[in-house]
Amino acid sequence: MLIYIVEDEDNIRELEGYALEKNGYEVASFENANDFYIALEKQCPDLILLDIMLPRQDGLEVLKKLRSDLRYRHLPVIIISAKTTEIDRVKGLDLGADDYMCKPFSVMEMVSRVRARLRNVPGADSETLSFEGIVMSQDTRTVSVNGAAAELTYKEYELLKMFLSNPRIVLRRDDILNNILGHDSTGRTLDVHIRTLRNKLGDRGRYIITVRNVGYKLDKDE
Ligand code: CA
Repeated sequence: MLIYIVEDEDNIRELEGYALEKNGYEVASFENANDFYIALEKQCPDLILLDIMLPRQDGLEVLKKLRSDLRYRHLPVIIISAKTTEIDRVKGLDLGADDYMCKPFSVMEMVSRVRARLRNVPGADSETLSFEGIVMSQDTRTVSVNGAAAELTYKEYELLKMFLSNPRIVLRRDDILNNILGHDSTGRTLDVHIRTLRNKLGDRGRYIITVRNVGYKLDKDE
């Protein structure tokens, strides 16, 4: 399990990192939002410990950004902050934090809350996403359809993961483009990726349904 810590105070960052590593977690720490974003693009952690008062971009902005990105919408985030008023707490939770701890905090309590949160991640125990015969194993980055392996490209895999993580929800074309294919991609690129993905999913390809003028959704055909 990999945990990212975003915290600008050296001693707190080290304290959190040390405690988590001692409890068997892999940890990477960042002093500011920018460094964190760079790492996030390379590897997605299982949980984030987030400070609010950070230089340049604060933790609430980071949280807002994560929650508006389909790839990170369900990523557990625990805020650890010196901002301890009721309003701060509510603001953090409203923006989608999974938990909120106030500084100064007990390291043991922090570790136990991290552990509890990681137990509660939906689907995290199996790391498998599935829908009607389409099975994605995230540990091995493999996909099978009705038991037969499907060879997907990187983008197709990410695209399918987005569908499997949001079944029966209409995904807007713009969101898919921004989140998966990158801002410079065109709608045509998206159509091509969808077409090849459908082909590779065989008879399950029809479950990626075109929602006219809006986008696509993963659903059983009526
Ligand atoms: Ca701080």
